[in-house]
Formats: sequence, C-alpha cells, structure tokens
Amino acid sequence: MALKRLAMITQEADGWQVPDWRRLQADLITDVAALCEHLGLDPARLPDGVDADSDFPLRVPRRYLDRIEPGNPDDPLLRQVLASGRERETVPGYGADPLEEAEHTPVPGLLHKYHGRALLVVTGACAVHCRYCFRRHFPYQTHLSGGRWKQALAWLRERDDIREVILSGGDPLTLGNERLAALLEELAAIPHLDRLRLHSRTPVVIPERLDDGLLSLLEAPRWRATLVLHANHPREIDADLAARCRTLGRAGVTLLNQAVLLAGVNDDADTLAALSDRLHDAGVLPYYLHQLDAVAGAAHFAVPDHRARALHAALRARLPGFLVPRLAREEPGEAAKTVLAG
Ligand SMILES: *Cc1c(COP(=O)(O)O)cnc(C)c1O
Ligand code: SF4
Repeated sequence: MALKRLAMITQEADGWQVPDWRRLQADLITDVAALCEHLGLDPARLPDGVDADSDFPLRVPRRYLDRIEPGNPDDPLLRQVLASGRERETVPGYGADPLEEAEHTPVPGLLHKYHGRALLVVTGACAVHCRYCFRRHFPYQTHLSGGRWKQALAWLRERDDIREVILSGGDPLTLGNERLAALLEELAAIPHLDRLRLHSRTPVVIPERLDDGLLSLLEAPRWRATLVLHANHPREIDADLAARCRTLGRAGVTLLNQAVLLAGVNDDADTLAALSDRLHDAGVLPYYLHQLDAVAGAAHFAVPDHRARALHAALRARLPGFLVPRLAREEPGEAAKTVLAG
C-alpha cells in the first residue's frame, strides 16, 4: 500500500523541468500507519504508542526513510520523525512559544533578538517534520500573511545596525532556487548587510537539494555565505551529502552544523563523536549542540543539564577543540544563546 502510494506521487511529479530534489521532496509518507507498515513495525506494539492524529502531522521524505533501519522501533532516525504517543503528555514548563518569540517580532516574518542579526521567517514549510521542533506551534499564518517578505525587507533597509540576515523558517531550502534568487537579490541591495546565513535541515533529509543552482546562488561574490545544517546523528550524513557539502566548501561557503541533544537519538558520547567525525569529513564544523527548547509535545526528548554537560566533557576529552560544538540553550530575554559548556 505505502509503496504503491509513493510510486504514484513520484510519477505525478515527474515533469521534465522538475529538479530531482523537488521530486524527492514530494515523495513522502504523511501517515503513521503507512510509515510503520513500510518499516515492518506494528504501531500497537511500539512501547510509547503512536499519535496518528497529531496537529503537527507526520512528514517523512522517502529519501530519509531509506536510512531508517526496518523493524527497529528504537532507530534514532525514526525517533525524530515518528509521532509518538508521548507527544500528548502535558509537562509543566513546556508550552507553545518557549522562546517568547512573539516578543521579538517587530514586523511579521522577522525575528530580531540578537545584536546585529535578524532572522527572516521565509516560509512555514519544512521538508521533514521533526518531532522535537521548537516551532511546531509557531503561528506561521500570522508571519506569512499578506505581502510576504515586503515588510521584513522594508524593516531591514531601515535598520543599518543589522549586519547579518539569517534565512530560516520553516526551512528556507524548501523554496526553489528562483524564489531564493529573488529574495537574495533584494537582500543584496541592502548595503549594510555583510553576512548571509541560511539554516536548513532539508539537505540532511534530501541531499540533492544542494544542487548546482543553489551553489551558484551561494558562491555569488556579494558576500560570504554561511550554511548551517541541522544534522543530529552521524547516519544522517551519507556519502552523497558529504560530497555536496565539500563542493559548497570549495566554492567558499562556510559550513556549520547545529544539532539538538535528543534523548534516545544522540545522547551518548560515541554517537556525538561520530557525528563530529562525519561532519569533519564533509567539511562542516560543529557549531552548536542545543539543549531542547521546552516546547509542548517534546518533553520526552529532554536530556538533563548535568548529563548534557557530562557528554560535552566526554567529547572534549576525545576530540580536537574545533570538533566540539558549544553546548547551548536559548533563554528568553538574554543577549545571546546561553553557553552551558564551550
Ligand atoms: C539563534 C538565533 C540567532 C543566531 O544566533 P547565533 O548565536 O549567532 O547563531 C539569531 N536570531 C535568532 C532569533 C535566533 O534564535
Ligand atoms: S526542519 Fe527545523 S523547523 Fe522544520 S520541523 Fe524540523 S526542526 Fe522544525
């Protein structure tokens, strides 16, 4: 069943102009039962149960699914995408807007929290729905209504203290190269912007997204672009992704990775060290290892601070300093992310 449905989606999207990654993005599973069937799992026998009817629906591209081990309910990649029954637990301290982002929104579609940097919410869409996502309750409708990026661009033009624009979302690389090019052109015309940064998890689930068109956008001489990937587990970085990252690196793009520390996914020193190794091999430096944001539905992924610090110390003891990410957490009202261990 599930396979048949996937085949149909692929065929429908199979136009000659559709780039590879677009087809791969449309080739996905959005249904808990279909996902379990595909992986040979019985949803009724999963220890945490499943949530087949989540407000934050399942979304797993097949390109990512292929890296999940069939028949293993504890697979660390599966845990990141399967809606678990524990998402319904109400846990004190976990809410809809843990970072109080609503307070840092001068105009719709733009977050300004930190000195010199502004974050553009360019889209509400993501290639994958990560169950730990801190924006799972984000009011994208408010941010993306009406004139799209117009107000945000106007705000940026006026604010010459802003030197860096960060494209985020949702996931900015769910946008096609044409639309990205149009946005980058507007941004490039703002003289006080010196740095361009993109945060994206799309390449991790669909490496083909790092295509030639994107390469030429990011290697443009206007500024030195930084791409921050969001990989959480070494198995998420396959040979194809590594090769594409190295190509971007050769073109002068700075490549960093931001991971989230997740119970049952990457909360052991071997996994984190292997992640750093894989990243290094791809020419990507570990940037942050984030403590989970207290978003409702994700409490079961939390790792206590004392364990997080111990894991960080274990990494320090076995890796060169430049392969140890900063352990950080986002705290509302602070001037920067809080570094728990550097
Ligand atoms: C995390 C974040 C940034 C970037 O912080 P860095 O420490 O520079 O990576 C900027 N704006 C917002 C709103 C953020 O949440
Ligand atoms: S890609 Fe990022 S924004 Fe999108 S669901 Fe995953 S964690 Fe959230």
